Amino acid sequence: MVRLFVQGPLQAEVAVAPTLDQSRYLTQVMRLKLGDSLLVFNGVDGEWRCVIAEILKKGVVLRPEEQVRPQAAGPDLLLLIAVVKKSALEFAVEKATELGARRIGLVVTHRTQVQHVRMDRLDAIAIEAAEQTGRLDVPMIDEPVKLADLLDGFEAGRRLMFCDETGGAPAMEALAAAGGGPWAVLIGPEGGFSPEERARLRALPCTTAVSLGPRILRADTAAIAALTLWQAAVGDWDR
Ligand code: SAH
Repeated sequence: MVRLFVQGPLQAEVAVAPTLDQSRYLTQVMRLKLGDSLLVFNGVDGEWRCVIAEILKKGVVLRPEEQVRPQAAGPDLLLLIAVVKKSALEFAVEKATELGARRIGLVVTHRTQVQHVRMDRLDAIAIEAAEQTGRLDVPMIDEPVKLADLLDGFEAGRRLMFCDETGGAPAMEALAAAGGGPWAVLIGPEGGFSPEERARLRALPCTTAVSLGPRILRADTAAIAALTLWQAAVGDWDR
């Protein structure tokens, strides 16, 4: 069944108006007709089966019929990724959404080359991936922040999986030893972290410095590998 993310409340008897683009997608791409059902979620009210109640020039109107799943959240997993070139960043956002990152933060490091980021485009990619993957929320994507500022304000109680291309502990064992709870996974830019950044990261008590193996991975590949290892070691893959 088609899944759609909407802004705004989902409750019985309260009509939902998707955007014009979404309406066109439903009627022209997916060829849904009056009375057809689809699944709708908004990140707050769980998943609802809705029917197409009206098809108007200005868009379709959906009528929520029944809640089919209550709202549920995955583990508290934050991906912090250096701003890398557009295709790699977009790929990482899509895959991180599929792999269950709850939130994604963009980081500017000493060796970050790329300056401009299309946040609206990344949001759209995250929404599409969430629709496709069946999750009930869409990861929030935070605007780029300097690594130093991010570490100054780093949330107490959150652990940091620092993916260090110069070497670290084998990831599975190190994660399992550190245990569950809120985590952030940090991935550097194409040029890697500077020695000063590495020193500061390694000195933090919340840091677990890990290796992703003997090969240097591109940032997007490293993000997928790290999130996979995290999910397998302390995430929700056993549920
Ligand atoms: N240019 C750097 C590599 C950067 S790869 C160099 O040649 O050393 C981009 C990011 O992916 C790294 O900063 C790191 O966070 C992650 N990464 C890539 N390969 C890794 C590995 N084998 N172990 C841990 N992290 C890795």
